Amino acid sequence: MAKLALLSVSDKTGIVEFGSELTKRGYEIISTGGTLKTLVDGGVKATAVEDVTGFPEMLDGRVKTLHPRIHAGILAKRDNPQHMAKLKENGIEPIDLICVNLYPFKETIQKDGVTDAEAIEQIDIGGPSMLRAAAKNFQDVVVITDQADYSEFLKRYDEQQVDRGYRRHLAAKVFRQTAAYDALIAKYMTEEPFPEKLTVTYEKVENMRYGENSHQAAAYYKEPIPATYSLANATQLHGKALSYNNLRDADAALRIIADFDQPAVVALKHMNPCGIGVSDNLLSAWNLAYESDPISIFGGIIALNRKVDLATAEKMHALFLEIIIAPAFDDDAYAVLAKKKNLRIMTLDFGKLNPNQKDMVTVLGGALYQDADTVHETTADFKVVSKAQPTDAQLKALAFGQTVVKHVKSNAIVVTTANQTLGVGAGQMNRIDSLKIAVDKAEEKKGYDNAIVASDAFFPMDDCVEYAAKHGIKAIVEPGGSIKDQDSIDKANEYGIALVFTGVRHFKH
Ligand code: 5GP
Repeated sequence: MAKLALLSVSDKTGIVEFGSELTKRGYEIISTGGTLKTLVDGGVKATAVEDVTGFPEMLDGRVKTLHPRIHAGILAKRDNPQHMAKLKENGIEPIDLICVNLYPFKETIQKDGVTDAEAIEQIDIGGPSMLRAAAKNFQDVVVITDQADYSEFLKRYDEQQVDRGYRRHLAAKVFRQTAAYDALIAKYMTEEPFPEKLTVTYEKVENMRYGENSHQAAAYYKEPIPATYSLANATQLHGKALSYNNLRDADAALRIIADFDQPAVVALKHMNPCGIGVSDNLLSAWNLAYESDPISIFGGIIALNRKVDLATAEKMHALFLEIIIAPAFDDDAYAVLAKKKNLRIMTLDFGKLNPNQKDMVTVLGGALYQDADTVHETTADFKVVSKAQPTDAQLKALAFGQTVVKHVKSNAIVVTTANQTLGVGAGQMNRIDSLKIAVDKAEEKKGYDNAIVASDAFFPMDDCVEYAAKHGIKAIVEPGGSIKDQDSIDKANEYGIALVFTGVRHFKH
């Protein structure tokens, strides 16, 4: 009895060659409408599935292979005499190999102006059914869904290496594929932001050399359809492969720079900004970011939101940096930066975070899923709670500080002017320590006379206001909301400080 292979593929790349090679190895081929035509046109002999089922393909192709003659042929256990007797009784041939790839649902929903009806029509039914049936019966059936496996299968066939382990490997691939396919459909159809089953699917970008540390294995995955403004859409033009930590830092830098419209430069280390500068031109924004903290920027990640010019590139070239990411580079600027072999140079068109962006982190035994923190307050949201009113210049600085502070790990305190961070206090376990770090770093810097303090969460007591006041700070912005707010307000009044509440906390753990 000849071996039977059923070929039914939407993406017909390589199918004629594969079909032809199968025929050479003694397979008889059954095929669906479009695939059959491709095979026959390519000179490969094949039988229409209709001739096997005795039923026409119908309902615009919705029903082609959904028939017991196909599914019993796939699912029958070859070592089960009753199964085999049943096939015989009904004149059904066992099918030994299934090669299917699915309707292009993902590609369809990405098309401009696609209608719901068009999308739904691209939900493959018969394909996943055959794949799953064959994968379930991998003991007896070879199932191929990935074109990359065409040649691998043939090689193994010739070497008589199509063993149980290989068939199980192909079966597992199928279940990943159909699960991912359904997850995308589920996502497309789901309206609830937090459904009772969260069906996420990611596609591998690459294996990484290692994870956070060299003893941790790691791989990078992206969403099947990443947002336009996302790390997954950045292009690396030059330099060493991105590491796990690079990717996390680059992501953090991209989130920060998205909050600025003016020319801006963000220097970042270990997920925290160490210097941010904004100005009317990129070079001066760079100078401000650099002068914020000329020590910490060493080995940093730089994000810029304008095309990089030669003058700015030369400044950056003078330092050791891990990554530079910008919308574009002037040719001469790129040439200067590319002199450093390892420096990772990346491009991404700048944009805003998708307002529906969700962030997920894992915890032991679970995951937490939440709206990304995409809001930031402007002066319109400020409520002055002190007797002293902030000056216009102070208001601008408070707005800048408020934009920055939400991107710093809690407890977060930043000391800034209207266009530059002067001190960043990040990730301390109490607020006063973060404040001391920020103020102490800022104190000797140019511009400190006009500096303000911004805090990501309320002051639990009045010590922060007192410390800031004693170090010459004249304006502070914080969310408010502590039972001891009045103590901080009293302290601000005692020292003549302008204290502003925003009402919005921005923890970043
Ligand atoms: P063809 O181009 O050969 O006409 O169709 C190939 C596609 O049809 C494959 O993507 C396969 O998954 C899908 N397919 C095979 N059988 C069925 C079926 O019974 N119903 C539906 N909806 N799709 C099928």
